[in-house]
Amino acid sequence: MSERPRLTVLSGPSGVGKSTVVAHMRKEHPEVWLSVSATTRKPRPGEKHGVHYFFVTDEEMDKLIANGELLEWAEFAGNRYGTPRRAVLDRLESGELVLLEIDLQGARLVRESMPEAQLVFLAPPSWEELVRRLTGRGTEAPEVIERRLAAAKIELAAEAEFDTTLVNTSVEDVARELLALMRVV
Ligand code: ADP
Ligand code: 5GP
Repeated sequence: MSERPRLTVLSGPSGVGKSTVVAHMRKEHPEVWLSVSATTRKPRPGEKHGVHYFFVTDEEMDKLIANGELLEWAEFAGNRYGTPRRAVLDRLESGELVLLEIDLQGARLVRESMPEAQLVFLAPPSWEELVRRLTGRGTEAPEVIERRLAAAKIELAAEAEFDTTLVNTSVEDVARELLALMRVV
C-alpha cells in the first residue's frame, strides 16, 4: 500500500490488549483520532462516558440503529456496540487518521462499506496468555469471561481475513508497528 491509509480497524479477541496498545500509542500520537463507540455495556471502574464509550440504554441503542446513526454495530457477549457514523465521516473528510477498535463482526461490516479501510488483527502470544490477561484484568464475572473466550475462538479463526496480524507480546513494539502501518512514523 503506497498511500497513507486514512481508516484503520483494529480487532482481536477480548483481553488481547487492544485498549492498552491504543492508549499507549495515542499518548505519543494524539493526532490519531480514535472513534468512541456507543455501547449498552455498563461502565467498568474508571471508564468515562464520552471518553471510553458513550454508555447508552437499550432504548437509546435501538434509536441510534433505527435512525441510521451507526456506521456499523454488533452484538458482542451479550451487549451491543456501534460506531457513530457522523464523527468518523467528518474526521475522514478533514483528512485525519482514524482508528476504530471494534470486534470481528464490525470489522467485516466496515470492510464491506469501506473497502479502502486497513484491517489489523491483534493476536495473543498464546491461548493460555489470552486467558491469563482476560482473567487477570479482573473486570468481568466468570460467566462473562466464558462468553468472551467463546467469542475469542471464533475471532482467532478469522485472522486470515485481516490485512495484517500483529502479535501482542510487547505493548511498546505493537504500538510502534501499528503506527508504522498507519504511516504515522
Ligand atoms: P482488550 O482491550 O483487547 O480487551 P486490554 O487492553 O483491556 O484488552 O488488556 C487486557 C489485559 O491484558 C489488561 O490487564 C492489560 O494490562 C494486559 N495486557 C495488555 N497488553 C499486554 C502485554 N503485551 N503483556 C502483558 N499484559 C498485557
Ligand atoms: P469491551 O466490552 O471489552 O470494551 O469490548 C468488547 C468488544 O467489543 C471488543 O472486541 C471491542 O473491540 C468491541 N467493540 C467496541 N466498540 C465497538 C463498536 O463500535 N462496534 C463493534 N462492532 N465492536 C465494538
